[in-house]
Amino acid sequence: MLMHEVLIVGGGLAGLMAASTISGKVDTAVLSKVYPTRSHSGAAQGGFNAVMGADDSIEAHVFDTVKGSDYLGDQEAIEVLCSDGPGVIFELEKMGVPWTRRDDGVIAQRSLGGAGFPRACFAADFSGHVVLHTLFEQILKLGVKVYPEWHLLELLLEDGCVSGALVYDVPNARLEVIRTKQVILATGGYGRAFAKTTNAHANTGDGMAIAYRAGAVLSDMEFVQFHPTTLYGTNILISEAARGEGGYLRNAAGRRFMSDYAPAKMELAPRDVVSRAIFKEIKEGFDGHYVHLDLTHVGEAHVAERLPQVREISIRYAGVDPVGSPIPIEPAQHYSMGGVRTDIWGRTSLDGLLAAGEVSNVSVHGANRLGGNSLLETVVFGRRAGNKAAELAKNQPWPDLSTKTVERSIEPWKELLAAGPRKADRDDSTVFVRKEMTTLMTNQVGVFRTGKELENAVEGLMQLRERYGRLAPPRGKQPFNLALLDYLEVGYLLDLCELIARGALARAESRGAHYRTDFPRRDDKNWLAHTFALRGEKGPRFETGQVSITRYQPQERGY
Ligand SMILES: Cc1cc2nc3c(=O)[nH]c(=O)nc-3n(C[C@H](O)[C@H](O)[C@H](O)COP(=O)(O)OP(=O)(O)OC[C@H]3O[C@@H](n4cnc5c(N)ncnc54)[C@H](O)[C@@H]3O)c2cc1C
Repeated sequence: MLMHEVLIVGGGLAGLMAASTISGKVDTAVLSKVYPTRSHSGAAQGGFNAVMGADDSIEAHVFDTVKGSDYLGDQEAIEVLCSDGPGVIFELEKMGVPWTRRDDGVIAQRSLGGAGFPRACFAADFSGHVVLHTLFEQILKLGVKVYPEWHLLELLLEDGCVSGALVYDVPNARLEVIRTKQVILATGGYGRAFAKTTNAHANTGDGMAIAYRAGAVLSDMEFVQFHPTTLYGTNILISEAARGEGGYLRNAAGRRFMSDYAPAKMELAPRDVVSRAIFKEIKEGFDGHYVHLDLTHVGEAHVAERLPQVREISIRYAGVDPVGSPIPIEPAQHYSMGGVRTDIWGRTSLDGLLAAGEVSNVSVHGANRLGGNSLLETVVFGRRAGNKAAELAKNQPWPDLSTKTVERSIEPWKELLAAGPRKADRDDSTVFVRKEMTTLMTNQVGVFRTGKELENAVEGLMQLRERYGRLAPPRGKQPFNLALLDYLEVGYLLDLCELIARGALARAESRGAHYRTDFPRRDDKNWLAHTFALRGEKGPRFETGQVSITRYQPQERGY
């Protein structure tokens, strides 16, 4: 059995920021199912929002975020996000992040959707990549223990308190128990629940499902972000930075159609608004497949300086050089707004468990996240969760972790890892279940939702769950048993899909990214509330919770 006072699960930006904060205060380890620098955070291009110039203000950032969230964001948490932002950007700079600069040497900022000001700090269009690598260098320098390619299987609880984790060492096909005082979950989102997504293959919502199974409260799971501009066909993200640097959206007639939907903000309206507009326009032209993102007027030098990755992706995966031709794009799932409910220090409803980053729901995004606010959230709340976990771990004795608890949780896994021939599924497989699940989610729990389709989706998911229960798990002791990991991940996703679909069915209104064609208006009287989901004896149990409103009363949202 291994022991670490704080165990951070996840080597993306939230996990590494927490680790760099804690290091030196208490004994800390980072566990990650993919090598940390391959975490999904590395794909982020656009930037980190933070108020840097005298013309902008924290108040404006708070207001843009509250409005963007369609008034479901918790204003107390949003104030923390925005106020801590500038300090974290400078902290990252001191660690060595090479932010892109203006000619006068000041950190450059670009416009992203829903912001009243060019507020996103960036490093060309490699923003997530450079910060991830800088943080990883820092934690190696600080001597944080890293377990790369180790997979969290279960949280171990004693008397309702998290006191350990059962983990799987993937290269060596071995189980291990890690005893700990505090766990910080930083396991990212569940994008792979959808067939069309910008997310990495690793984004299977493990941490959310594992926390839910352990009894933690999840919140606002029905809110799923769909990014307006992903490459038609592959759904690789074409960053909002492309519109921030001047890109236009054009329909089949070549017209900038956003003037019909958001005349003031045009292409830089929030993502929920732009995605719905694109969906409608797609129906009108290009055989119902895509619309165009046009950068041809932006200029080759500017594209080369600010959007090199966008250009390379378009050439490589669509055969289109954006300097000379428009890029075909369509919306796809992009971000998990819901997650493990936390307070502003990352504490969850379970003792000994904290969460930060996309796995969590501290509710800074509410019903719709603004571009640039998620990267900011990872570092602001990663740091806060790190500080809180260190403080708690320092002042507490080692919690009990009985042999009985450990044995009870290990037993079923031993069976899975037993050597011996793998039982093949004759008529069904994880691959089929996954394919049907993701297609169902994209088609029936997508940008536009109806009660009827959501009912069908819930029924379909229940059938898939039954089929999943009948699958023979891909057993075996071989290193990198990816079939076993696939099987586990589909199990996590099925849990979460049920919460998303049931939550969406229950919420009889339209708010932010949750758009019900049968309830097209926002209903503050009945639905200005969070959805809390808990695991019950016979399936999920839903409750509602109050939204924190400090300064800004809900208003009609127009752009
Ligand atoms: C293509 C793309 C571009 C984006 N661009 C921007 C942007 O410009 N600005 C912005 O604000 N936001 C952006 N976002 C969103 C933002 O990048 C993510 O929300 C953020 O990086 C998530 O960071 P994280 O640390 O929470 O999780 P991740 O970076 O996803 O890391 C999760 C970690 O958890 C580990 N993990 C998961 N499950 C397990 C398990 N069972 N056991 C062990 N380890 C596990 C993984 O190995 C990984 O290390 C973008 C998203 C995408 C998809």
